[in-house]
Amino acid sequence: MLVAEQKNVKEIIDMLGDDFEKLLIVGCGTCVTVSMAGGEREVNSLAEVLRTYYASQGRDVEIETDTVKRQCDFEFLDDIEEEINRNDLVLSLACGIGVQHLVERYPKKVVLPGLNTSFYGATTAVGEWSERCIGCGECVLDKYFGICPVARCAKGLLNGPCGGSQNGECEVDPDTDCAWELIYNRAVELDKLDELIDLVEPKNWEVYRDGGPRTLVNKEYHED
Ligand code: SF4
Ligand code: SF4
Repeated sequence: MLVAEQKNVKEIIDMLGDDFEKLLIVGCGTCVTVSMAGGEREVNSLAEVLRTYYASQGRDVEIETDTVKRQCDFEFLDDIEEEINRNDLVLSLACGIGVQHLVERYPKKVVLPGLNTSFYGATTAVGEWSERCIGCGECVLDKYFGICPVARCAKGLLNGPCGGSQNGECEVDPDTDCAWELIYNRAVELDKLDELIDLVEPKNWEVYRDGGPRTLVNKEYHED
């Protein structure tokens, strides 16, 4: 899932400015709900904080809230057309994709981002997420026994460790496991250490985003 965190309230207040009277805060019911940044609970608590703030400033601001299933699908954005139209400003608590999809669906409305989108990650403890994938476009997990050195090695090394790890931790960040230690241990566990001896060719980065924004087309729906 995409992992995101909420911008701090002062930054949000500064970004919203003072040229509006009706604000709609829209959450997203998928990834950012799981990462506890932009689901219904966070939308409602941010709305309460903002209501209290604007009241303390003597400002008459109406705040409406809603949380759609996914902001990255037009089908769910259609459901909130009336709410969008009756508000001056929209604050999206979705990832950057959701914000841009709202802008595309409602181009006349100002839509602002309430979150900072961070990475593709997994839940590793309650309230903790760790990066697992960068969406490189050519998955090589088969070569590394299911542990991704592209995303999880700080240097993205594909042919073994840098030699700097200490006690299984990465030399770049001692709070992060060395991906290569994990890969090595898993190879030992699976009795496949010999498979790590072969040199892995450089990855094809043309399918990553260095070739510009990517589009994926499912031929079942698009024949030409
Ligand atoms: S190899 Fe690429 S697609 Fe596969 S997990 Fe790593 S970054 Fe993601
Ligand atoms: S210590 Fe391990 S994870 Fe960190 S950069 Fe070196 S090989 Fe990669």
